[in-house]
Amino acid sequence: MGNLRSKIILDAFKKKAIEIPAPESEVSRWFGELVFTRDKMRRYLDPSTFEALAKCIDEGSSLDLETADKVAAGMKKWALEQGVTHITHWFQPLTDGTAEKHDSLIDYDGKGGVIETFTGKSLVQQEPDASSFPNGGIRATFEARGYTAWDPASPVFIQDDTLCIPTVFVAYTGEALDFKTPLKRAIKAVGDAALPICNLFDPKAKRVFAYLGWEQEYFLVDEDIYAARPDLMITGRTLMGHESSKNQQLDDHYFGAIPSRVAAFMKDLETEGYKLGIPLKTRHKEVAPNQFEFAPIFGELNLSNDQNQQIMNIMHKVARKHGFVVLLHEKPFAGVNGSGKHNNWSLGTDTGVNLFAPGKDALGNLQFITFFVNTLYAVQRHNGLLKASISSATNAHRLGANEAPPAIVSAFVGRTMHEVLEKLVELPSGTPIEIAGKKGTSVGAIGIPEIFVDNTDRNRTSPFAFTGNRFEFRAVGSSANCAGAMITLNTAVAEQLLDFKASLDAEIAAGKELNVAVVDTLKPLIESILKVVCFEGNGYSEEWKKEAKKRGLDTENVVPRMIMEYLKDDAVKMFTRCGVFSERELHARNEVKLETYVKKIQIEARVMGRMALNHIIPAALEYQTKLLQNASLQKELLGADAPAVEIDLARQISSLVADIRKKVVDMTEARKKANKQEDAFEKALAYSAIADMLPGIRKPIDDLEEIVDNATWPLPKYRELLFIS
Ligand code: ADP
Ligand code: MG
Repeated sequence: MGNLRSKIILDAFKKKAIEIPAPESEVSRWFGELVFTRDKMRRYLDPSTFEALAKCIDEGSSLDLETADKVAAGMKKWALEQGVTHITHWFQPLTDGTAEKHDSLIDYDGKGGVIETFTGKSLVQQEPDASSFPNGGIRATFEARGYTAWDPASPVFIQDDTLCIPTVFVAYTGEALDFKTPLKRAIKAVGDAALPICNLFDPKAKRVFAYLGWEQEYFLVDEDIYAARPDLMITGRTLMGHESSKNQQLDDHYFGAIPSRVAAFMKDLETEGYKLGIPLKTRHKEVAPNQFEFAPIFGELNLSNDQNQQIMNIMHKVARKHGFVVLLHEKPFAGVNGSGKHNNWSLGTDTGVNLFAPGKDALGNLQFITFFVNTLYAVQRHNGLLKASISSATNAHRLGANEAPPAIVSAFVGRTMHEVLEKLVELPSGTPIEIAGKKGTSVGAIGIPEIFVDNTDRNRTSPFAFTGNRFEFRAVGSSANCAGAMITLNTAVAEQLLDFKASLDAEIAAGKELNVAVVDTLKPLIESILKVVCFEGNGYSEEWKKEAKKRGLDTENVVPRMIMEYLKDDAVKMFTRCGVFSERELHARNEVKLETYVKKIQIEARVMGRMALNHIIPAALEYQTKLLQNASLQKELLGADAPAVEIDLARQISSLVADIRKKVVDMTEARKKANKQEDAFEKALAYSAIADMLPGIRKPIDDLEEIVDNATWPLPKYRELLFIS
């Protein structure tokens, strides 16, 4: 392997960037060319069909079959012009990725030939034989069928030769089996709860939207080097590997010059994204070697999340064209930063007001403060649940480790807003305050600057931060579907807004003026968040863990226990009240989460065991044999005593090998025991103990890597994985 490894490394190092031809025209001319956009709807549909579809999209209503037939006919015409031969319903089951089953457009024409057909029915609904998707028992007890139904709010797009129709995926009994269904419900819940509050300040607003701007972090690894690492291939992360002498300690990767092979990949990816109407905006090197990030311009949450799912798929394909493999795992390498996916989130009205941006006048600022405080209070109320929403077997390696995010959900608001909140609570009750903005008066006023000076004063250790005109939920994992976090956040805020509105109505009914009533209702909330969820200090510190516990924040760091938050009374009440999950759905999804957790760790444990026994130990013994032969020859030919160094090394190897073997056997035994557990939660707990055994096996392996001859070592090393691109 040693020589083969050197050859792989050298070949990888010598790979050149693929020439990416410059686009024929500026992006704005072909942006969205593979999407059935509104513009194309107008061109390919008759005016009344277009109107009906537009209404459906804008109001979230469903499409009647007659209109659907006409829409399908227009879509088919467009798709055939683009060379499409297949269609698929494209959905987001409870796995890590998306699902698609392609059907060709051909059908018998009754005259012995075939024709292309595409009906409204197959646009609107399909019944994939989906009994193999994770369903948490929902399917087993009823008919093992589900159906997918088009979400007209997500435009249809073309991928290769296939027309993709974004759909929800539900059981025949109506339960959600995917991410999109509850995400849409949560978006509706928060919009519906926010609107009546907005209308107090802005009677013209008719709808409130949720927005998402994700920042996708990832690693690139040369594909040939990757192929020599079974752990990366099977689990998405390295289960072993001694740290490289150099990693990120020089801070020389972040925002550094982008190597040409990577730049070509990025360009290619952006081109594919633009064709699909994904407004990719930023690209840069991240902190760890071979780690990168890109982000689009934020957009409506449901669509933006679809686009994140699309681009995650495309990344894998495009990377291979460039001889790379994309790693979306949260922690592919020990000792350097892992990858996350910051979710920048905000609420806004159809009148163009961002509810998390300071207003233009006193009333606007009062509205801003209202939504700002209620969001933080919602995060406080459900901090454990929000942590559950981002927890997984893979994100567990970031959570609580000494990098973003800590396993405690607190909020950072910045100095300016902190001071504003403090001033607000100090006001005597009933003070008719005005929060001055640009045009604000200064009578008894508390000032909010139009632009925050500490807008960029980012506390990177905070999992939930206010960044000037939005909140940034930073704890989301790089491989996750953002919907997991967004469903919980939006529902939590929806619930809080409902409660707030009820209290506010009572104050107003008691004769208080709006601005007095608002501040009086907000005050106890502000007092509470300042004491509990708001934290401006270092989230990584040991003191914070103690302090957070005292404040009553959730400090649980065992993933299966975190997941159980979804079944606690408060969570069930919140989700059912807001119409996002039924209790049955919550139970089913939790079962899926626990099962997924178990399976991921089970796979890692198996790979770890096999690599230890089949890769590492044989290599160590091979080198040990050489050492012993050498010692023996020295003794025989040089007439020396047994040479101390060689014998000593051989002994060290024996002891490390014995340690590895014993730990692998122990782990296998632990697995056997865990597998007997019937209860999903108990089983997941047992597997979390198995996850904790892996570093113990890794340690002697990494120690061996430091001893064994480099030429004999069977796996590409960290320095080779992390520095070639
Ligand atoms: P940083 O790394 O400095 O946080 P990036 O530019 O990498 O910033 O990403 C910021 C993301 O936040 C982008 O997707 C951007 O479009 C998004 N964003 C900006 N304003 C809002 C907003 N009001 N609501 C939601 N997302 C927003
Ligand atoms: Mg960023």
